[in-house]
Amino acid sequence: MTESLDPRLRQLPNNAGRFGPYGGRYVPETLIPALDELTAAYKEAKKDKAFQARLVDLLNNYVGRPSPLSFASRLSEQFDRRIWLKREDLNHTGAHKINNSIGQVLLAQRIGKKRIIAETGAGQHGVATATACALLGVECRIYMGTEDMRRQLPNVYRMRLLGAEVVGVSAGTSTLKDAINEALRDWVTNVEETHYVIGSALGPHPFPMMVRDFQCVIGKEARKQILKEENKLPDLLLACVGGGSNSIGLFHPFIKDTSVKMLGVEAGGNGTVLGEHAARFDGGTFGVFQGTASYVLQNEDGQVTGTHSVSAGLDYASIGPEHAWLRDCDRAEYVRCSDEEALAGFHLLAEKEGIIPALESAHAIGALQHAVDRTEKDGIIIVNVSGRGDKDVAEVARCEGVEI
Ligand SMILES: *Cc1c(COP(=O)(O)O)cnc(C)c1O
Repeated sequence: MTESLDPRLRQLPNNAGRFGPYGGRYVPETLIPALDELTAAYKEAKKDKAFQARLVDLLNNYVGRPSPLSFASRLSEQFDRRIWLKREDLNHTGAHKINNSIGQVLLAQRIGKKRIIAETGAGQHGVATATACALLGVECRIYMGTEDMRRQLPNVYRMRLLGAEVVGVSAGTSTLKDAINEALRDWVTNVEETHYVIGSALGPHPFPMMVRDFQCVIGKEARKQILKEENKLPDLLLACVGGGSNSIGLFHPFIKDTSVKMLGVEAGGNGTVLGEHAARFDGGTFGVFQGTASYVLQNEDGQVTGTHSVSAGLDYASIGPEHAWLRDCDRAEYVRCSDEEALAGFHLLAEKEGIIPALESAHAIGALQHAVDRTEKDGIIIVNVSGRGDKDVAEVARCEGVEI
C-alpha cells in the first residue's frame, strides 16, 4: 500500500524559495538583484536543451557518470538486507561535490560572470570548484579558514595546482562559517562580474533548489539502476547530512514514491551537549544563519554555537532548508551517528566491501543498524557513498593512535 503524497510537499520550494517556513533569502539588499538574475537564468537553463546537453556531456565524459550502484554482498549477508551502494566516491575528484560545481560554473558562464568565488571547509568543495574552473577556463578564488588550511594542507596545494587563488580567513574560529562570511562579503562587493558557487543545499534562494537539482543526478540514476537490478523501488535510502546536498540529491527524486523511506544521518560528534556535535535536529532550533532559515545550533540569545565532528564535511551549525521541511512533514527521518560509530563504519566498509569511504560517508555506514531496524528481512537499502576516504586515512590513524 502506498499513501498519496502530502500536499505540502508538492512544490518544493514555492516561488519565494520557501520550504514551508524554511529557506527564503536573508541577505544584504545589494545581493537581491544578483539572486533574481540567477533564479531567472537558472530557470531558463533548466529548459534549454543545449545547456542540458553540455552538462550531461561533462558529467558523463569528464566526471565519469553514471556512477555505479554496487551490490554490497558481504554487508547484505551481515544485516539480512539487500544493501546497494551508490558510488559517488568514483567520480572525478572523489566525491559528489563536482556534480554541483560543474553545473554552477557552466551557469555562471552562461550569464557572463567572469569570476568565480567559493568557500571551503575541508577543501573538497574548493577542489571541485577549482577543477570546474580549470576545465572551463574561469578565474577562481577560494576562501578558507586558516585553521582549516593548516589541517588540510594537501587540499590547499591541490587547489593552487588547479590554478585557483586560495585566500586564508583568520576571523572568528578561522573555519568554514568564517570563510562563508568572507565569501559573502566579496560577493556583495563584486557582484557585477562574480558568481558565488555555494557548495551545499544551503544559503539564500535559489541555491538550495539549484544545488539540489544539480545533485539530483544521484537519485535519478539510482532510481533507474535499482529498478533495473531489483525490478522494484528500494525500501529505504540512507545518506549522511552536512549541509544536505548528497542526501537531498539521492532523496528528492523519490519524494513522490511514498513507500520509500528516507533516513538522513547527522554528525553526533563526541557528546550530546551543545558544542560537542553537529546534530541540528537534535539540539538545534528555528533560526536564520548565512542567508537561509532552518534548524540552527544556537544558544538562547540566538548566537550560533561551535560544533564538532570527526568529519569536517558534516561539521556545520545549520542544515539545508528542504531537509527541515521533509522532517517536519514526516517524509524523512534523521538520526545521529557519533564519531566512534562513524570510525567503526569506516572500518566496516573497508573490510567487508573493499571500499575506504570518506569519513562523512562513514556516518551513513555507521548508522546502518537504524536502517535495518526500519526495514524487513531482505528489504532493499540504498546507501550513498558520497566520497572516497583517501583524504581521511591520516586523520583516522591519528584518532586511533596508529603511526603511519
Ligand atoms: C562535503 C561532503 C559531505 C557533506 O556535504 P553535503 O552537502 O551534506 O552532502 C558529505 N560527503 C562528502 C564526501 C563531502 O565531501
